Amino acid sequence: MGSSTGRRLPVFVITGPSGAGKGTLEQELLRLLPDRLELAVSATTRPLRPGERDGYHYWFLDDAEFDRRVAEDEFLEHVVYVGHRYGTLRSEIDRIREQGRAPLLDLEVEGALRVRDEVPGSVTIFVDAPLPELEQRLQARATESSGEIGDRVSLAREQKEQAGEFEYVVVNDDLADATAALARIVDRELSAAATMSRP
Ligand code: 5GP
Repeated sequence: MGSSTGRRLPVFVITGPSGAGKGTLEQELLRLLPDRLELAVSATTRPLRPGERDGYHYWFLDDAEFDRRVAEDEFLEHVVYVGHRYGTLRSEIDRIREQGRAPLLDLEVEGALRVRDEVPGSVTIFVDAPLPELEQRLQARATESSGEIGDRVSLAREQKEQAGEFEYVVVNDDLADATAALARIVDRELSAAATMSRP
Protein backbone atom coordinates (compact mmCIF):
# COMPACT_ATOMS: atom_id res chain seq x y z
CA MET A 1 0.00 0.00 0.00
CA GLY A 2 1.53 3.35 -1.01
CA SER A 3 1.98 6.33 1.26
CA SER A 4 -0.68 8.38 -0.57
CA THR A 5 -3.23 5.75 0.47
CA GLY A 6 -1.66 5.66 3.92
CA ARG A 7 -2.32 9.35 4.44
CA ARG A 8 -6.04 8.74 4.00
CA LEU A 9 -6.23 5.99 6.58
CA PRO A 10 -8.44 7.06 9.47
CA VAL A 11 -7.00 7.67 12.92
CA PHE A 12 -8.93 5.64 15.50
CA VAL A 13 -9.18 7.18 18.95
CA ILE A 14 -10.24 5.11 21.92
CA THR A 15 -11.16 7.04 25.03
CA GLY A 16 -13.26 6.55 28.12
CA PRO A 17 -13.06 6.65 31.87
CA SER A 18 -9.96 5.36 33.59
CA GLY A 19 -10.62 1.74 34.56
CA ALA A 20 -12.98 0.94 31.67
CA GLY A 21 -10.57 -1.71 30.43
CA LYS A 22 -9.45 0.15 27.31
CA GLY A 23 -5.99 -1.40 27.39
CA THR A 24 -7.20 -5.01 27.42
CA LEU A 25 -9.77 -4.29 24.72
CA GLU A 26 -7.14 -2.67 22.54
CA GLN A 27 -4.83 -5.65 22.89
CA GLU A 28 -7.67 -7.95 21.84
CA LEU A 29 -8.53 -5.71 18.90
CA LEU A 30 -4.90 -5.59 17.75
CA ARG A 31 -4.73 -9.37 17.99
CA LEU A 32 -7.78 -9.62 15.68
CA LEU A 33 -6.59 -7.01 13.17
CA PRO A 34 -2.77 -6.98 13.31
CA ASP A 35 -2.30 -5.94 9.68
CA ARG A 36 -4.78 -3.11 9.76
CA LEU A 37 -4.19 -1.27 13.04
CA GLU A 38 -1.23 -0.26 15.17
CA LEU A 39 -1.18 1.39 18.57
CA ALA A 40 0.67 4.71 18.61
CA VAL A 41 3.17 4.99 21.46
CA SER A 42 2.58 8.22 23.41
CA ALA A 43 5.06 10.21 25.44
CA THR A 44 4.54 10.80 29.15
CA THR A 45 6.29 12.28 32.17
CA ARG A 46 4.73 9.81 34.61
CA PRO A 47 7.06 7.22 36.18
CA LEU A 48 7.26 3.72 34.72
CA ARG A 49 5.06 1.12 36.40
CA PRO A 50 6.40 -2.38 37.02
CA GLY A 51 6.46 -4.37 33.79
CA GLU A 52 6.44 -1.31 31.53
CA ARG A 53 9.12 -0.68 28.91
CA ASP A 54 10.34 2.63 27.52
CA GLY A 55 9.44 2.94 23.83
CA TYR A 56 6.85 0.19 24.04
CA HIS A 57 4.20 1.29 26.56
CA TYR A 58 5.23 4.95 26.40
CA TRP A 59 8.26 7.08 25.75
CA PHE A 60 9.05 8.07 29.33
CA LEU A 61 10.40 11.63 29.25
CA ASP A 62 11.39 14.15 31.88
CA ASP A 63 9.69 17.55 31.95
CA ALA A 64 12.52 19.31 30.11
CA GLU A 65 12.45 16.81 27.24
CA PHE A 66 8.66 17.00 27.07
CA ASP A 67 8.90 20.83 26.93
CA ARG A 68 11.49 20.62 24.18
CA ARG A 69 9.17 18.44 22.09
CA VAL A 70 6.23 20.79 22.70
CA ALA A 71 8.39 23.70 21.49
CA GLU A 72 9.38 21.70 18.38
CA ASP A 73 5.65 21.06 17.67
CA GLU A 74 6.19 17.30 17.84
CA PHE A 75 2.82 16.65 19.49
CA LEU A 76 -0.53 16.34 17.77
CA GLU A 77 -2.06 16.99 21.19
CA HIS A 78 -0.81 16.99 24.74
CA VAL A 79 -2.45 17.29 28.15
CA VAL A 80 -1.81 17.22 31.88
CA TYR A 81 -3.67 14.29 33.40
CA VAL A 82 -3.62 13.48 37.13
CA GLY A 83 -0.44 15.48 37.59
CA HIS A 84 1.51 14.05 34.65
CA ARG A 85 1.89 15.03 31.04
CA TYR A 86 0.88 12.87 28.10
CA GLY A 87 1.18 13.58 24.39
CA THR A 88 0.58 11.99 20.99
CA LEU A 89 3.64 12.18 18.76
CA ARG A 90 2.95 13.23 15.17
CA SER A 91 5.85 10.99 14.10
CA GLU A 92 3.97 7.93 15.38
CA ILE A 93 0.91 8.73 13.26
CA ASP A 94 3.08 9.21 10.15
CA ARG A 95 5.13 6.07 10.78
CA ILE A 96 2.07 3.85 11.21
CA ARG A 97 0.23 5.28 8.19
CA GLU A 98 3.32 4.91 6.02
CA GLN A 99 3.19 1.19 6.79
CA GLY A 100 -0.37 1.07 5.46
CA ARG A 101 -1.95 0.63 8.88
CA ALA A 102 -4.44 2.85 10.69
CA PRO A 103 -3.11 4.45 13.89
CA LEU A 104 -4.95 3.59 17.09
CA LEU A 105 -4.69 6.19 19.86
CA ASP A 106 -5.53 5.53 23.50
CA LEU A 107 -6.30 8.97 24.95
CA GLU A 108 -8.02 10.54 27.93
CA VAL A 109 -11.15 12.50 27.08
CA GLU A 110 -9.66 15.97 26.59
CA GLY A 111 -7.05 14.76 24.11
CA ALA A 112 -9.64 12.64 22.30
CA LEU A 113 -11.87 15.71 21.85
CA ARG A 114 -8.94 17.63 20.45
CA VAL A 115 -8.13 14.91 17.90
CA ARG A 116 -11.85 14.65 17.03
CA ASP A 117 -11.92 18.39 16.29
CA GLU A 118 -8.56 18.74 14.56
CA VAL A 119 -7.82 15.56 12.64
CA PRO A 120 -9.94 15.06 9.53
CA GLY A 121 -11.03 11.45 9.20
CA SER A 122 -10.56 10.63 12.87
CA VAL A 123 -12.96 8.07 14.33
CA THR A 124 -13.67 8.45 18.04
CA ILE A 125 -14.83 5.58 20.21
CA PHE A 126 -15.82 5.93 23.86
CA VAL A 127 -15.34 2.74 25.90
CA ASP A 128 -17.58 2.79 28.94
CA ALA A 129 -18.15 0.44 31.89
CA PRO A 130 -20.51 0.46 34.88
CA LEU A 131 -19.27 2.73 37.70
CA PRO A 132 -18.83 -0.04 40.33
CA GLU A 133 -16.58 -1.90 37.89
CA LEU A 134 -14.57 1.22 37.21
CA GLU A 135 -14.04 1.83 40.91
CA GLN A 136 -13.08 -1.77 41.51
CA ARG A 137 -10.49 -1.74 38.70
CA LEU A 138 -8.99 1.52 39.90
CA GLN A 139 -8.72 0.22 43.47
CA ALA A 140 -7.06 -2.94 42.21
CA ARG A 141 -4.21 -0.98 40.65
CA ALA A 142 -1.82 -1.47 43.50
CA THR A 143 0.96 0.62 42.00
CA GLU A 144 -0.80 3.94 42.54
CA SER A 145 -1.02 5.83 45.82
CA SER A 146 -4.51 5.91 47.41
CA GLY A 147 -4.61 9.67 46.84
CA GLU A 148 -4.12 9.19 43.14
CA ILE A 149 -6.83 6.50 43.01
CA GLY A 150 -9.28 8.92 44.67
CA ASP A 151 -8.50 11.50 42.00
CA ARG A 152 -8.97 8.96 39.26
CA VAL A 153 -12.35 7.77 40.58
CA SER A 154 -13.76 11.30 40.60
CA LEU A 155 -12.27 11.92 37.18
CA ALA A 156 -13.80 8.65 35.90
CA ARG A 157 -17.22 9.87 37.08
CA GLU A 158 -16.81 13.13 35.18
CA GLN A 159 -15.44 11.37 32.10
CA LYS A 160 -18.41 8.97 31.91
CA GLU A 161 -20.67 11.95 31.36
CA GLN A 162 -18.87 12.85 28.15
CA ALA A 163 -19.76 9.68 26.26
CA GLY A 164 -22.22 11.61 24.06
CA GLU A 165 -19.39 13.67 22.57
CA PHE A 166 -18.04 10.70 20.65
CA GLU A 167 -19.04 8.98 17.47
CA TYR A 168 -19.32 5.48 18.92
CA VAL A 169 -19.90 4.16 22.45
CA VAL A 170 -18.92 0.59 23.33
CA VAL A 171 -19.84 -0.75 26.77
CA ASN A 172 -17.17 -3.09 28.06
CA ASP A 173 -19.20 -5.43 30.25
CA ASP A 174 -18.16 -8.51 28.30
CA LEU A 175 -14.68 -8.57 26.76
CA ALA A 176 -15.52 -10.77 23.74
CA ASP A 177 -18.66 -8.78 22.88
CA ALA A 178 -16.93 -5.44 23.28
CA THR A 179 -13.96 -6.59 21.16
CA ALA A 180 -16.31 -7.80 18.42
CA ALA A 181 -18.18 -4.47 18.50
CA LEU A 182 -14.91 -2.57 18.17
CA ALA A 183 -13.73 -4.78 15.31
CA ARG A 184 -16.99 -4.13 13.45
CA ILE A 185 -16.52 -0.38 13.84
CA VAL A 186 -12.93 -0.53 12.58
CA ASP A 187 -13.92 -2.75 9.66
CA ARG A 188 -16.77 -0.46 8.63
CA GLU A 189 -14.69 2.70 8.87
CA LEU A 190 -11.74 1.22 6.98
CA SER A 191 -14.04 0.03 4.19
CA ALA A 192 -15.67 3.46 4.00
CA ALA A 193 -12.26 5.19 3.85
CA ALA A 194 -11.08 2.78 1.11
CA THR A 195 -14.20 3.48 -0.96
CA MET A 196 -13.74 7.23 -0.62
CA SER A 197 -10.09 7.15 -1.63
CA ARG A 198 -10.69 5.17 -4.82
CA PRO A 199 -9.92 7.27 -7.95
P1 5GP B 1 -1.93 5.69 32.33
O1 5GP B 1 -1.10 6.62 33.15
O2 5GP B 1 -2.88 4.90 33.18
O3 5GP B 1 -1.12 4.85 31.39
O4 5GP B 1 -2.84 6.59 31.37
C1 5GP B 1 -3.65 7.57 31.91
C2 5GP B 1 -4.53 8.15 30.83
O5 5GP B 1 -3.75 8.86 29.88
C3 5GP B 1 -5.31 7.10 30.04
O6 5GP B 1 -6.67 7.48 30.03
C4 5GP B 1 -4.74 7.18 28.65
O7 5GP B 1 -5.76 6.96 27.69
C5 5GP B 1 -4.26 8.60 28.60
N1 5GP B 1 -3.20 8.84 27.61
C6 5GP B 1 -2.18 8.04 27.28
N2 5GP B 1 -1.42 8.61 26.33
C7 5GP B 1 -2.01 9.79 26.04
C8 5GP B 1 -1.72 10.84 25.10
O8 5GP B 1 -0.76 10.81 24.35
N3 5GP B 1 -2.56 11.91 25.11
C9 5GP B 1 -3.65 11.99 25.91
N4 5GP B 1 -4.42 13.06 25.79
N5 5GP B 1 -3.96 11.01 26.79
C10 5GP B 1 -3.14 9.94 26.85
